[in-house]
Amino acid sequence: MACKSISSITAGDGAEPIEIRVIRKWLSFVYKEEYCFLFVDREGTAIEAIGSKRDKAFLDAKLVLQSCYRVTNYLSARARQSHNVVPRAATIKLGRGTHFTPIDDSAFPTNYFNFLPFNRLRDREGNHFLLTDYIGRFDTITSDGPTKTNKRLMKLLVEDDSENFIEVALWEEVANTVNKEALIQEPFPCIIAITSLKVSEFNYLQMKSTAPTHIYINPDIEEASSLATRFKERYTAISINQRNLVTLRELAEKDPSTNSERKFTCVASIISFTQGRTWYYKGCVKCNKKLTPKSAALACENHPDVEQPKLLYCLCATIADTTGTATVTLFDEAMNSLVQTRCEELIIQQGYTDPYVIPDKIEAFKGVTKTFHLQFNNRPQSGSSQYIVNNVSDHTNIPDEEKNAVTTLTVSEDPQQHMMSTPVSEAATISPITLAEEQNDALTIPPVSDDPQQQTISTPVSKAATISPITPPNMCVHKRQLLNSPDEDSKKMKSANAPKSKQD
Ligand SMILES: [Zn+2]
Repeated sequence: MACKSISSITAGDGAEPIEIRVIRKWLSFVYKEEYCFLFVDREGTAIEAIGSKRDKAFLDAKLVLQSCYRVTNYLSARARQSHNVVPRAATIKLGRGTHFTPIDDSAFPTNYFNFLPFNRLRDREGNHFLLTDYIGRFDTITSDGPTKTNKRLMKLLVEDDSENFIEVALWEEVANTVNKEALIQEPFPCIIAITSLKVSEFNYLQMKSTAPTHIYINPDIEEASSLATRFKERYTAISINQRNLVTLRELAEKDPSTNSERKFTCVASIISFTQGRTWYYKGCVKCNKKLTPKSAALACENHPDVEQPKLLYCLCATIADTTGTATVTLFDEAMNSLVQTRCEELIIQQGYTDPYVIPDKIEAFKGVTKTFHLQFNNRPQSGSSQYIVNNVSDHTNIPDEEKNAVTTLTVSEDPQQHMMSTPVSEAATISPITLAEEQNDALTIPPVSDDPQQQTISTPVSKAATISPITPPNMCVHKRQLLNSPDEDSKKMKSANAPKSKQD
């Protein structure tokens, strides 16, 4: 029985019968009347099929995910102006008159991806004509909480096979399909494929989910197993703790734009605190933002009804190891982990009330070797320091240390001596910013937020939803070229039973 291949469908053509597998389905956010499906044919070519939201029940009754059909009486139209999921010039229109006849499914691919490599992401920045599929190693969940509009936003850090890290922000509808605990527990390396993302720039390159975004954990595809092998090889004999362990010189050589959300670990010591600025501030109890004077009182721009302000640490310091120095900002959480005393207690109970005089209890940490967990300060609003410290822990020798530069590191207990033996970087000599500027800029944003919508995160989402993705991760046993030219339709999943094509 003759049927047309998806690759030959053009807008407004004769719409001869097609035979397809239903790969995914979703309700569009942007085109609110649409109920969409992703179809793939035996050749591995995919096309979007669009019905009306009003016909959802009718279409759901006819089309079951992962089942195969002969489709007749459909129409074809041009692709949308934006938010296309596959690189096709045409889409299929489904209606109540469309016929779906179940057929044998053995010869159809079970999935479809069109991965874009990291170095091509810039091409799609702000251009959402075609959405982006991405594959890499799941590293961490960098944040998860409600935005200003009280919508959940979960951010993941994903590493590609060239050590490029990128943050992927998942809006509520998609975040709720992720079993967070299970994801974190996945053994190393956990390969993640995320479909239909928007690429945008907010201080740095990032990706955001859209309605059709689906997440596949360790998908059974060639790209995933090949990536997993490469990650295993690269990180052979390096424990998880050591993976991000760097010297300050190595850190200085990292490119902030491709490591913007990456967490690094350095063994170093504080050699000086920046003088001439306050070491604490009055912050909002809900969001930690610095309060602004309002009449005779203080107020948070996001929480005008906030009652009693909190006293919170914020210090800038220069840290050093034997390879170099760096300037860092330590916000409240990091200072609590260092000093083990809450800011309020130091001020109210222990009497360190002068905001311009750094307490001797804090000064005492100068020259003491500690493990700093930090990341690039890529938010200009957060002041001029190079890095933001997220946490400070005691320096204990990490077993099986491979990084000799760090294991042999000893920082002199005498900060003066250390200063003399360490080249002081340019950044370290920047004069302190005047208090007013620094306060306004540095303190309006808590250390781990980057997105205006994110700045109000106050409560972590405690219990992750365990709803399964609409489309479960599927099995595919076909060989594909890894991350080659993404906009071509040569990147298709072939069925195991399909004849081997030239493309493979
Ligand atoms: Zn607030």
